[in-house]
Amino acid sequence: MTNAIIRSGGSTPVRQECQLIEAAIKKSFSAAHFLKEKDGAPEDLHGHNFVVELVAVCTVKTAEGRPFCETLEKWLEEATRTLHHKNLNNLPSFKDCAPSSEHIAQYIFNEAAKKIGPSHANISHVTVWEADDTGVTYKR
Ligand SMILES: [Zn+2]
Repeated sequence: MTNAIIRSGGSTPVRQECQLIEAAIKKSFSAAHFLKEKDGAPEDLHGHNFVVELVAVCTVKTAEGRPFCETLEKWLEEATRTLHHKNLNNLPSFKDCAPSSEHIAQYIFNEAAKKIGPSHANISHVTVWEADDTGVTYKR
C-alpha cells in the first residue's frame, strides 16, 4: 500500500521547482516480533501489519525535474522492504534494541536520512502504526 499526500503551504513560490512542500508518504509491511514482558520474560512471537508514515519538507521536484515525492516513496519502499515478512528480532538492525514500534520508527528515519541529500529534503518525522489506534512517532 502506498499513499502520497502533498501538503503545500507557505508563501507563493518564485519558481515552481524551488517551492517547498511537506510531503507525507505511507507504506505498509508485515512482520513478526516479540518484546519482553515487565518481568523480562519474552512475549510470544506475533505479527503486525505495520503502517509507516514518513513526513519530510522537500522541494517539489528534483534537479532532474521529477516529483520529489517519487524519490521519498522509493526510499521508504527500500527501508520497509528490508523488514517485510521478517522476524524483526533476527535482524542485525535490532540486535542491540528490541524491535518495538519506537525502534522501528527510529530505524526507518535513520535509513531514509542516510539517503536523502540535504539540498532536497529534511525529514520531519516517521510514525509507525502497529494497530489502527496505536502508533509512535520518531523525530530528532
Ligand atoms: Zn507486537
